[in-house]
Amino acid sequence: MQQPFKVRFWGVRGSAPTPGTNTIRYGGQTSCVEMRCGDQVLIFDAGTGIFPMGEQQDLKKMQLFLSHTHIDHILGFPFFSPAYQKGMELDIWAGHLKADGYNLYDTLSRVMSPPIFPLTLDFLKADIRYHDFNAGETLTHLTEHGIEIQTLPLNHPDRATAYRVNYAGHSACYVTDVEHIRDGLNQALIAFIRDADVFIYDSTFDDASFDRFVGWGHSTWQEGVRLAEAANVKSLVLFHHDPNMGDNGLDERLEKLRSLRPNHTDYVAREGLSLVLNP
Ligand SMILES: [Zn+2]
Ligand SMILES: [Zn+2]
Repeated sequence: MQQPFKVRFWGVRGSAPTPGTNTIRYGGQTSCVEMRCGDQVLIFDAGTGIFPMGEQQDLKKMQLFLSHTHIDHILGFPFFSPAYQKGMELDIWAGHLKADGYNLYDTLSRVMSPPIFPLTLDFLKADIRYHDFNAGETLTHLTEHGIEIQTLPLNHPDRATAYRVNYAGHSACYVTDVEHIRDGLNQALIAFIRDADVFIYDSTFDDASFDRFVGWGHSTWQEGVRLAEAANVKSLVLFHHDPNMGDNGLDERLEKLRSLRPNHTDYVAREGLSLVLNP
């Protein structure tokens, strides 16, 4: 029997949490995406969305993959309750730190220490292992569960890592915090996401206003469309929304997106969105 491959969105907002009446439908939590491959629980980023994610009752063993450690992607970590519980197992992975001489444990320690936070990492009672790798490596520690994880370095201040999860003949790519270059598409990224079922992409900006944001480390939803078309992606999911973009703006974006790719089922990520790759 084929095991399910599911993707669920817990936090879809970039840069800063944005609760409020204008973001009630798409949500205001920052980046956190859960993938379930059979009985394995994979989490991408520890933005504030990881807080509700961690309240699920069936968690025991988890893999947390960080795109990078900018604050919006780790802000929820101190509030991730499984990390405090004895008997929980948590592997945390980061691919952007090694190259600059940093490591994951020390980096998270800087956030979880007084006077920024009252508790330190030593206070966490779960069995936690911290792993640094170089973005570009393939992670094979889950191959016994039939899961392969490919990674790719991304163009972002302080670096970031993209992940591609291959499981049961299907693929989902988590590609956020990346600035595209305008003289041609990123061929390495196209090869990385080729034929994926789900492509989650940093869609902070819009082509029309992008000039003002060159150097900020983000991309546009239209670049997501160009990449998805070039790589034959089934479903594009716009992600890491601009904190100033309200629900109505995102509705409009969804309408334009679907008119550009009428033969695909694309999405604008919202909290609670769940996709099943192998129904
Ligand atoms: Zn971000
Ligand atoms: Zn960032």
